[in-house]
Amino acid sequence: MIAQVIVDVAAKQTDRVFEYHIPKELTDVAVGSRVVVPFGRRKVQGFVVGISETTSYTGKLKDLLVVIDELPPLTPELIALSKTLADKIFSYRITILQSMLPRVMKANYRKILVPLTDEIKENTLFKGEPLDLNEVSDLETIIKIKKLIKNNQAKIEYLVENKAKKKQVTAYLLTKTRTEYQDILGGIRTTAKNQRALLNNIVEKYNEYPKLGSTIESELGISSSTLRAAEKKGWLLKKEQEIYRNPLKDFESNASKHSVRLNSEQLDALNSIGTSIEEKEAKTFLLEGITGSGKTEVYLHAISTTLEQNRNALMLVPEISLTPQMVKQVKERFGDNVAVLHSGLSEGEKYDEWRRIRRGEAQVVVGARSAIFAPLKNIGLIVIDEEHESSYKQNDTPRYHARDVALLRSKFHNCPVVLGSATPSLSSRARAQKGRYELLRLTKRANQRSLPKVDLIDLKTVEFAGGQFDLSIPLVDAIKEKIAKKEQVILLLNRRGFASFMLCRNCGFVLKCPNCDISLTLHKDTGQMQCHYCGHKEPIPRKCPHCQSEKIRFLGTGTQKVQEELETLLPDAKILRMDVDTTRRKGSYKKILDSFGNHQADILLGTQMIAKGLDFPNVTLVGVINADTALSLPDFNSSEKTFDLLTQVAGRAGRAEKTGRVMIQTYNPENYAIKLAQNQDYEGFYQKEMQVRFQGNYPPFFYTTLITVTSKNEQSAAKEAFVIKRKLMRELHAPTIILGPTPSSVAKIKNQYYYQILVKYKYEPKLHELLHQIQDDAQLAQKRGLNIYIDNEPERIM
Ligand code: ADP
Ligand code: ZN
Ligand code: ZN
Repeated sequence: MIAQVIVDVAAKQTDRVFEYHIPKELTDVAVGSRVVVPFGRRKVQGFVVGISETTSYTGKLKDLLVVIDELPPLTPELIALSKTLADKIFSYRITILQSMLPRVMKANYRKILVPLTDEIKENTLFKGEPLDLNEVSDLETIIKIKKLIKNNQAKIEYLVENKAKKKQVTAYLLTKTRTEYQDILGGIRTTAKNQRALLNNIVEKYNEYPKLGSTIESELGISSSTLRAAEKKGWLLKKEQEIYRNPLKDFESNASKHSVRLNSEQLDALNSIGTSIEEKEAKTFLLEGITGSGKTEVYLHAISTTLEQNRNALMLVPEISLTPQMVKQVKERFGDNVAVLHSGLSEGEKYDEWRRIRRGEAQVVVGARSAIFAPLKNIGLIVIDEEHESSYKQNDTPRYHARDVALLRSKFHNCPVVLGSATPSLSSRARAQKGRYELLRLTKRANQRSLPKVDLIDLKTVEFAGGQFDLSIPLVDAIKEKIAKKEQVILLLNRRGFASFMLCRNCGFVLKCPNCDISLTLHKDTGQMQCHYCGHKEPIPRKCPHCQSEKIRFLGTGTQKVQEELETLLPDAKILRMDVDTTRRKGSYKKILDSFGNHQADILLGTQMIAKGLDFPNVTLVGVINADTALSLPDFNSSEKTFDLLTQVAGRAGRAEKTGRVMIQTYNPENYAIKLAQNQDYEGFYQKEMQVRFQGNYPPFFYTTLITVTSKNEQSAAKEAFVIKRKLMRELHAPTIILGPTPSSVAKIKNQYYYQILVKYKYEPKLHELLHQIQDDAQLAQKRGLNIYIDNEPERIM
């Protein structure tokens, strides 16, 4: 038998199938298996993508060496999907196969030096063990090694290591009947207290065994030495058992299924989706429901319907709204059938959840973007909540969009996809308009509450509280009023840190990152200037580094600064801050939210991570400190992003009995995105924004592809970009529009210069092939220090 293998070498020449002979001993190999194969002088990992009886290859095929896992990690469906997707998004197939697995399963390659004679083995270099060459860097040792190899005294070998570790615990099994233990107990001295305690426990709780060692120790107050002694005497049998790390252990499932009665809009939506689930239709629904209209309830009911049909359900939520609140709801409804996958889990937890899914032990999977590749079988429903979120698009290779992958999987499984949002992406809404998706609308809040009243505060004319220009008097007054009534406040500021740049008033110098074309942000808590792109840090300057003047100012604002201002203006208020800086440690996110939920603080101040999905009944005021941050970005969808963010964050107010209020501070109160967000008028925004996109020849009227060229040398990046542009111009024709090359809006990041070309097209049959050529040529360009990225339907063009 012959195995077709994609090897773990991401390059143009290796982006194809290689054939290997399957030796008799490796009969457990299947499509989807991870294997180790000889490749040139090395051993590499690979994935089996096909198995056949014969080959057209005339030479002698090499043998497969190892099959890594008992159960092939990927299913035939995912193997096939990797091929379709690689072609669509201009990626190497191996890159996609790798990203379908939890990170710990990525192969670890080690290069080792193995001594060949006993004499050499005793050499100080080896001390009896092979030498890890990845750890050798000094020249002297390198010369020694070369000499050994030349004299045939040692050779280099390549190891493929598996980092993924299963978690094991020690359990104790019984070896005798209960009567036998009783007899033994009778013969033990009364002074041997620990042994008697153990035997007593065995006799009394015979049926509770096997038990975990740690459980026995804590229950009986005995130590592991007693257990070891019991094992020696043959009373107990020790066994290492594999267990799953359970990230949901804090969310006990609540058997009392407090099911709500759906309202008529929710029922209509559910009926349409339910019919599709039952009839196994690969159909896409767009569930457009205002914030608080009960979309989650519709998803959960649809998932129930799916399980009733003996099929499984996959639900995606954006990373930042994968809040404990959301996980809790799903867990309460579906108990141990749920597996979660998101970045808050440890690598080990992720690996274990993933294996539960692969083994068919979970029927419902909830996760962030990459969970779209979950090895779930027999899928009957795919839900994508907050479908407009740009985080569903991966910004690095492979640049896939989870929504596109969902549609591919839906075709394979014949199951519906539900895209839900209060502010659908323009492209999804346009598809619904054309009838390619079925539009389902929820127009009322589920709890009969009206939407909160939204006021715009014009920062050009308003007076500010305190000495800074961040918090207006009306906003501060409203906060005071709410706190006096023991209600809570959420404040959004889309910028972390203290001040966003240092300016010299004498010479105009702005302190920038040495690696990136962006100013450094002052972080008061760490006492450093930080780059938010590359992480560069340096001390806070006292004098201008350029002219040595002491007249320097720190301008712009961030969450740290606003927190300090609030503390001065409202000395009695308790404030929690939530941004990347305060949520770095595992579990801190949940801790902040729990503490706010328990009313241990009056104000939750944070970046956009507080805008989504949170449901706190006692929050009656939401304040947006500066609505213009997203608007000022020079991108085709910055109005859409602004509208989405404001609508979402406004939806956090007044979700329970108390009426909510929203205050948006802005320098652009006349801007249509802000005005329509004030009225939470999504349909109005859709109409207006479609006109703007039409006039600008942007999506959804044109398809777009972004080609980015980067290099340490600015001129070579620009030059290469022009070469690519000329190539495109020769083959493509009107109405296709080719923009650029232009430097990206942050022209340098991590010492790499960025140049980009945007192709906008309606119908361009040659483009696909052309882009594949550009991708192939990219490898040669790489040798000249150039990187070329192709981004199909980019979320950001800046
Ligand atoms: P969305 O996701 O659309 O913003 P949620 O699903 O979070 O809205 O629902 C908002 C609130 O309304 C939640 O507290 C939810 O429990 C409640 N809710 C949902 N459906 C109903 C219903 N049919 N009757 C009463 N309350 C409901
Ligand atoms: Zn200066
Ligand atoms: Zn930087």
